[in-house]
Amino acid sequence: MNCPHNIYIHVPFCIAKCNYCAFFSSAIAPDWESYQKSICAEIDFWANKLGRIKVPTIFFGGGTPSLMPISVFQSIMQKLNSTFDLSDCVEITLEANPGTLDNAKLRDFIANGINRISIGVQSLDDDELKFLGRKHDSETALNFLDAALNTNVKVSADFIYGLPNHNVQNIIKLCNDINSIGLQHASLYELTIEPNTPFGKMNLSMPSNDEMADMYLAISDHLRLPRYEVSNYATPGNECRHNQNVWDGDAYIGLGHGAAGRVFMNNSWFEEYGGDIKYTKIDNRTRAIECVMTGLRTARGARITNEVKNVVDIDFINSHNDLVIINDNHIRATDKGLLTLDDLLVHIIK
Ligand code: SF4
Repeated sequence: MNCPHNIYIHVPFCIAKCNYCAFFSSAIAPDWESYQKSICAEIDFWANKLGRIKVPTIFFGGGTPSLMPISVFQSIMQKLNSTFDLSDCVEITLEANPGTLDNAKLRDFIANGINRISIGVQSLDDDELKFLGRKHDSETALNFLDAALNTNVKVSADFIYGLPNHNVQNIIKLCNDINSIGLQHASLYELTIEPNTPFGKMNLSMPSNDEMADMYLAISDHLRLPRYEVSNYATPGNECRHNQNVWDGDAYIGLGHGAAGRVFMNNSWFEEYGGDIKYTKIDNRTRAIECVMTGLRTARGARITNEVKNVVDIDFINSHNDLVIINDNHIRATDKGLLTLDDLLVHIIK
């Protein structure tokens, strides 16, 4: 029997392209029928390879999965249910953008299995939302958050900080707003300017690295939710199980164009891409390095397995305990180490 695999399903459709977005998504009207068929065909493909595996978590990400008609969502869930073993599936997340579904549709998603909703709020300032190219305003976002928080599912919201002109005061206000909403999970991402996006062509004057670091530190000081990953904050027990499993190095399948996975079969790891279903074997060293890189982003740290022992410089870790420590069979970056994680990884991995 093959090991459990988490499942990520990419829904690459949006109502419009945001100014900063480099994700695989398109604002062209979707052909939902062919999308549903292609996802179901991918499910069959992996069932033939892996058998009736257990699925601990499912994550519908995008794009904008909340645009998906309920009938399409139901068909995909039925297919997953009949093909894999969902008896221990603890979390089914839907990413949703304010303004793309009403309360009735939200209830339909929940009635059909969604137990966690992740809302793309990005900002609570209308001028910032326009600047980012978002199609909702702050009132719509707050109303949707309120509706979601009045259901029985877990609720998270995404925010972007580090916009041109942002300073620590903006971040403190954002943290206070998030605290007053009463969220148990929030993701706060630093704005990065990607080439081939509208922002990439605008020569924006961005905050300096030091200013960004000050804003990052201000989040820890003012947000009431503890950080459990570089950009993710939650009260204990409200962490995103899907992402935590992936960062821990567990196996996962990515379905749909734009999705990626790490499949474990026949005692080997495979890098996998959804859509046209491409998969190639990766060696144990490559997989161990990936696990160190994702694990060190989390408060839990990277689990020390035999493979991990072979790729890390234990002497370096033991002589730099201000940046990285070993505790409870995990390697963990300290708060100071997290600020320079990319540089730190260069020294840790040998
Ligand atoms: S909603 Fe998300 S995926 Fe869609 S264009 Fe905006 S940032 Fe990109």
